[in-house]
Amino acid sequence: MQARGWDELDVLFISGDAYVDHPAFGVPLLARLLEAEGLRVGIIAQPDWRNPDTFRVMGRPRLFAALSSGAMDSMVNHFTAARKIRRDDAYTPGGKAGARPNRAVIAYTAALKGAFRGLPIVIGGIEASLRRFAHYDYWDDKVRRSILIDSKADLLIYGMGEASLKEVVRRLQCGTPFSALTDIPGTAHLASDLPEKVTILPSFEEIVQNCTAYAKAFRLCTEQQHLPLTGPTLAQRHGNRYVVVAPPSPPLEQEELDAIYALPFTRQPHPTYRERIPAYEQIRFSLTTHRGCAGGCAFCAIGHHQGKRIQSRSISSILGEIKRLGQHPDFRGTLTDLGGPTANMFGVRCRRPDRECRRNSCLTPSPCPHFDPSDRLGVDLLRQVRTQKGVKHAVIASGIRTDLLQQQPDYFADLLAHHVGGLLKVAPETIDAGVAAIMHKPNADSFIAFLDAFRKACDRLGLRRAVVPYFMSAHPGTTVESMIEVALFLKRHHLKVEQVQEFTPTPGSLSTCIYHTGIDPFTGQKIHIPRSPAERRQQKALLLWHLPESRPDILAALQRCHRTEVADQLWGGGSKGREKQNSSPRKGRGEKKGRRSPPKR
Ligand code: SF4
Repeated sequence: MQARGWDELDVLFISGDAYVDHPAFGVPLLARLLEAEGLRVGIIAQPDWRNPDTFRVMGRPRLFAALSSGAMDSMVNHFTAARKIRRDDAYTPGGKAGARPNRAVIAYTAALKGAFRGLPIVIGGIEASLRRFAHYDYWDDKVRRSILIDSKADLLIYGMGEASLKEVVRRLQCGTPFSALTDIPGTAHLASDLPEKVTILPSFEEIVQNCTAYAKAFRLCTEQQHLPLTGPTLAQRHGNRYVVVAPPSPPLEQEELDAIYALPFTRQPHPTYRERIPAYEQIRFSLTTHRGCAGGCAFCAIGHHQGKRIQSRSISSILGEIKRLGQHPDFRGTLTDLGGPTANMFGVRCRRPDRECRRNSCLTPSPCPHFDPSDRLGVDLLRQVRTQKGVKHAVIASGIRTDLLQQQPDYFADLLAHHVGGLLKVAPETIDAGVAAIMHKPNADSFIAFLDAFRKACDRLGLRRAVVPYFMSAHPGTTVESMIEVALFLKRHHLKVEQVQEFTPTPGSLSTCIYHTGIDPFTGQKIHIPRSPAERRQQKALLLWHLPESRPDILAALQRCHRTEVADQLWGGGSKGREKQNSSPRKGRGEKKGRRSPPKR
């Protein structure tokens, strides 16, 4: 501040992550955005929330303070799926845990209020965004109030936030009092009286008592999420107050996105840090090519946060960023990722963006006729990037949606030939038809077709590549019996799962709503929830059937399901004949016994 001749800030940012001036870190990105608007901004990273003085080091800001827990929800960051404390934190120097509090948004807001009496506080980022309504919290195992109520913040910005934050600043600069910021898209505020023309959600008190009311509230919130600008304003009563949520901001136009990534990021951590920041090491030479995800996987909240419509940067903007990256002293020519939430969605689009669309996914249960999966822009991007001066390797490390990849033959070939190493990591998550439908993932037939296309492409191109599949255990709808079929499928297709993600009910996702209520909010269908530690353990062991340490749990699972003959199929010799009889996982024993049919959305 002294070097810039500033005697005060306009906006003070607080971040739960280390300060890394890189566009992959949300708070530094927003700070650069406001700086470009001519504002004086400062960032305090990972302050000591127990000491208000650490929040005062740059003085009281003129307009407001804005805070985020960081790139992750602080509870997801701190605890495993088994609710055990994590020992590390990738977003902190030295990877050390403990630099931010549990429920960081609440703790930081309280500290800021203690440091600056009467200063307006704006909360944002993934933790605030996905907890804007009353929501189920896995770590408390109860429905919690909106984070606006619990934190006592003055305004909440949800989604990616750039447009809403700029509008907040613009209005304040024009003299609008903070209390009048009640209709900005992408924001939520508290009101004592019920505003006019709002859709009323079941109240906090109702959804605590009643799972059907919870599911209805979730459904209405999701529908609003799909209708930027045109959606209803929602109000949810908490006691004698209302949480009022305006419809989302519209997706950014390509020029707006390009302008953000052209801001003068140093792409370096703050110079005071002496220890490495693991998350930075991972992304320092990666590029974000687009935002949004059209897949709508039920367990993932990215669609809720970034939106379903794909917002792609222009190729010239990406090439310009690579050129600037070439000046980084440590860049040796390897781009560690060219991606977004799903790498092969770069350049895909909705042909009817003006249409009001309430679908959760453009791809499931069947591809939307308005979805254009063309790989023309994606292929163009890859070709231009790998021939760019100074680029030796350009890796695609972001997730790939395999059902989409099958509609993108040129991208598929380029990906295999130039942009992955020996292993292609894909995340089918399940091959059980019923669970795939609940997850909004492609089913087993689609995955088998992908494996077939993958092997043919490798043969044609003369490449030695292998697929590493990621699967999920304990997702709503998954039974031990269905997981036995998954284990047999893996064995049949010579696939070894290296990592299993155990389902964690994170705030805001459809799967979390199902986990809490036991029903699909869109169909009303009852769904099995694997809750007991024994069942969760057995499901995970079945995915890792090839590891000797999994055997005791697998044997217990087989006994429980009266399927002890499967042990021989998995580990015994001469299993081929039996496998042949059971070659389709969808026609296996589970289906004969009346497995549910996929829910319709
Ligand atoms: S109309 Fe179809 S392609 Fe467009 S957003 Fe909706 S589901 Fe996706």
